[in-house]
Amino acid sequence: MSSNNGYRMFIGGEWISSDRTFADLNPATGEVWAEIPDGTRDEARQAVEVAAAAQAEWAAMPHPQRASYLLKAADLLEKRKQDFMDVLIDEGGSWIGKTMFETGYAAGIYRAAAAAVYQVNGEILPSEHGKVSMAVRRPLGVVSVIAPWNFPLLLSSRGLTFPLAIGNTVILKPSEETPVAGGLLIAELFEEAGLPPGVFNVVTCSRDNVEEVGDELVSNPHVKGISFTGSTAVGRQIGSKAGYHLKRAALELGGKDALIILNDADMERALNAATFGCFMHQGQICMSVERIIVEQAVADEFTERFVNKVKTLRVGNPREMANVIGPIINQKQLDKIHSHVTEAMEQGAHLLTGGQYEGLFYQPTVLTQVRPEMRVFSEETFGPVAPIITVGDVEEAIAVANNSDYGLSAGVITRDEEKGLAVINRLETGIAHVNDSSVNDEPHVPFGGVKNSGLGRHGGRASIEAFTELRWLTLERGGRHYPPPFMVNPH
Ligand code: NAD
Repeated sequence: MSSNNGYRMFIGGEWISSDRTFADLNPATGEVWAEIPDGTRDEARQAVEVAAAAQAEWAAMPHPQRASYLLKAADLLEKRKQDFMDVLIDEGGSWIGKTMFETGYAAGIYRAAAAAVYQVNGEILPSEHGKVSMAVRRPLGVVSVIAPWNFPLLLSSRGLTFPLAIGNTVILKPSEETPVAGGLLIAELFEEAGLPPGVFNVVTCSRDNVEEVGDELVSNPHVKGISFTGSTAVGRQIGSKAGYHLKRAALELGGKDALIILNDADMERALNAATFGCFMHQGQICMSVERIIVEQAVADEFTERFVNKVKTLRVGNPREMANVIGPIINQKQLDKIHSHVTEAMEQGAHLLTGGQYEGLFYQPTVLTQVRPEMRVFSEETFGPVAPIITVGDVEEAIAVANNSDYGLSAGVITRDEEKGLAVINRLETGIAHVNDSSVNDEPHVPFGGVKNSGLGRHGGRASIEAFTELRWLTLERGGRHYPPPFMVNPH
């Protein structure tokens, strides 16, 4: 176990320190919250090697036994819920309500992954030679999981649990912003659950070392698969490297999701979906609503009521339940958010509320008159900013929604379910919902995007497919005929 001031990496079942450390900041106060080992390529390699050495035995273990470790981890997570919530607040700037959701949801991921051990199915294929012909799944081997900071516990867990359950061993590299909630606390769960050494490992490092650590976690020959969740820019690098080495990579990247509000929308649903979708966790969700596209006839009513609601969202210390808007994760992100807002205003957008900040606390912001040439329309903002675009009809709404390099999730609000389904059918996204916000997830659903939002899927059966190799095996029983010249006893 590690103490609050002496965090160490978890490699081969041992807690390992590093020569250097880096500062893990509390974004609400700006203070150093913990010192974290700044791992290097050597430690990443060591983690890969122990994971490779542990893999065959782990894969050969009866699958109910593998599942039992995940179930134990889920129970322990629930037992230590308060520890996780505290860390998610202190290191991640999460509002208490978000930490309650994230810890509860994460325990469900471990249980869903445990159930996956019973679902690694193959197929019996017809054979023209009368062979027993099978398509069977085998774990890839060692899987590297690289995770982001915004839902660190949830997204690290999503990345690591399914590959583990189905017989892979794992090295997790959490984000440098949230190495404890997204990595080291998870290692404590598995240690307490009694997971065999080497099956699950955590390597931490600063942004300075991430290039070399990341390179080892992708290009080391023992690594056969990569689960990456993060920005499109880094995902593209990881995907290119994985492609060069001909390795599997499931890439969950950024988004610029649309919420379309049609003339016949239930206005209360539209307001709830927009407020939650734009402002939950300060808009720092890959599936946040980042463009509200509203039909002309209801635009004024929606905008007025939306701004009134947004003004009620309290900003401040996330330890207080009433403060639903906590800090932005770091200065770089805050600068990006503010530049999107101020540039849009210079280009003609109207600011209806927000647009200001104190420390890392950014006021929930609403902009109208937003147009495609503005960065707040085209680039991921990842902050508490709601750009509103008014359109003439449904066709224009679909065209505006699809006018994006991203394609993660979307929502459409309408009382006409048939029309809603027809609209989401035409959206260029991996995920879409009728009468709900774009922000939605469940552990067993195929989660992922198209275009710049990623490649591959996580969740349930999709994770089983992503992190197993599908092989063709046969058993020949005398039905196979070779050309007579090749046979010792042709007949
Ligand atoms: P990021 O890309 O900066 O970092 C993600 C992870 O990659 C971190 O662990 C980071 O340390 C690591 N990393 C950075 N450079 C690397 C390199 N050269 N080699 C290997 N690893 C490297 O993203 P972030 O700021 O942590 O997260 C925010 C982004 O993640 C947003 O774009 C958001 O939309 C996206 N996201 C996507 C999903 C999804 O499911 N699609 C979910 C959450 C977040």
